[in-house]
Amino acid sequence: MDILRELGYLISAFLFILGIKYMGNPVTAIKGNIVSFVGMIIAVVFTFFHSTVNLGNLWFILLAILLGSFVGAYLAQSVKFTEMPQMVSFFNGMGGLTIALISVVEFFHKSNLDSFFIMSAGFSGAIGSVSFVGSMLAMAKLWGMFEKSKKSMAIRIFNLGLIISIFLVFVILILKPSPWLLIMLFILGGTLGFSGVFPIGGADMPVVIALLNAFTGLAASIAGFAINNNAMIVSGTLVGASGTILTILMAKAMNRTVWGVIVGGFGGVDQTSKFEKGNIQEIGVQDAAILLCYSKKVVIVPGYGMAVSNAQNEVHEIEELLEKKGVEVKYAIHPVAGRMPGHMNVLLAEAKVDYSKLYEMEKINPEFKTTDVVLIVGANDIVNPAAKNNPNSPLYGMPILEVDQAQNIIFMKRSLRPGFAGVDNELFFNSKTRMLFGDAKETLKKLISEIKNL
Ligand code: NDP
Repeated sequence: MDILRELGYLISAFLFILGIKYMGNPVTAIKGNIVSFVGMIIAVVFTFFHSTVNLGNLWFILLAILLGSFVGAYLAQSVKFTEMPQMVSFFNGMGGLTIALISVVEFFHKSNLDSFFIMSAGFSGAIGSVSFVGSMLAMAKLWGMFEKSKKSMAIRIFNLGLIISIFLVFVILILKPSPWLLIMLFILGGTLGFSGVFPIGGADMPVVIALLNAFTGLAASIAGFAINNNAMIVSGTLVGASGTILTILMAKAMNRTVWGVIVGGFGGVDQTSKFEKGNIQEIGVQDAAILLCYSKKVVIVPGYGMAVSNAQNEVHEIEELLEKKGVEVKYAIHPVAGRMPGHMNVLLAEAKVDYSKLYEMEKINPEFKTTDVVLIVGANDIVNPAAKNNPNSPLYGMPILEVDQAQNIIFMKRSLRPGFAGVDNELFFNSKTRMLFGDAKETLKKLISEIKNL
């Protein structure tokens, strides 16, 4: 029985790794999801092949699996594409909670508590609860709750106190094992998840979300050691490692250090504008169409607003129409555009945009000097000069797409409202900028028919 189970786990580990490999490319990403899904089913089914486990609660387990699958399938079907980042945070949080609960339950049940088990259970319980509460709070922040982040020395000292308390309780737990100490770790971890994520806002959220993902993976793999489950060890390590790589990449892309984001050393809370608000210049769809059609080179900058209005297909259509007229069109992809890593890549791939036309920030920035028109579609923070000019801004230090180097900027959004970081954008008032107000999808549709008429 045990050999059969381990064989099943080996196959599922292989499928998880293959799935991740496929997910590395938008063309094979769907295949990657299916392969990983099969891997997960195999891991769950083969967990029942256990010689020592009492399957007396089999009906409860099957009922839980059925309910979980039903809720998961319903959420995945019904969630709006724009709410996908919230759902990813929610699932990550649920992973953290499950792991923390496994540690606590096993602690109550296990008859021989060796020190290796105690250490693994304590560690995974604490990290799992940080991840659970942190992810729930991140989800709320993505929904626009707690908009103003508060970074204060008091919160930093409180967090440091929590980290020290967790360490002390952990040591006491090893010396004098008690399930109540584990529950205390669980509560302290949850509190740290809240007070650690609460002050972080502005542009730093992508790093936090990736970090929480890494925490869940780490906690799962350690819990796997605690309960001697190889599938959990492998899958947890995969999530932990990929989450850590993503955290480092995100932090690098935003010119932050991971530690700086965690202790809140970056940015500030000063969201007031530090520039003279002059007059803005508007442009109509007809003039915008003429400007675009008579250009040699156009760069499209997609942002969260494109996702909100589901305008990726219209963006792609504009690209094709302009190319037919001999205009060179490229896309500028900022690493934190949208609300989840790779958000723009996923949307544009869905609209069948050729992947070779997507340029990362470092590659496209030198090209803006030779660009006739930049078309910003629902982006804001990723082009906000405050990231370069205002040391007190929460965006300060984040590299941006240097669209102000181009000859003309068409800024498509609904109003002069700021983006996720809540910082006013000086670019609206730039002499090269023309504001094209309206919902991205509706405006693009009008633009498409104007371009077709030219
Ligand atoms: P922003 O949130 O800065 O700006 C999006 C803009 O889109 C808004 O200013 C809004 O202006 C406009 N908009 C909204 N709806 C529509 C619509 N229907 N039609 C047209 N425009 C619309 O997005 P960016 O992509 O520029 O930047 C991403 C931000 O999110 C960064 O601060 C990043 O740190 C943060 N973030 C990113 C994550 C990631 O992993 N990528 C995760 C968490 C946070 P208006 O209301 O006037 O229309």
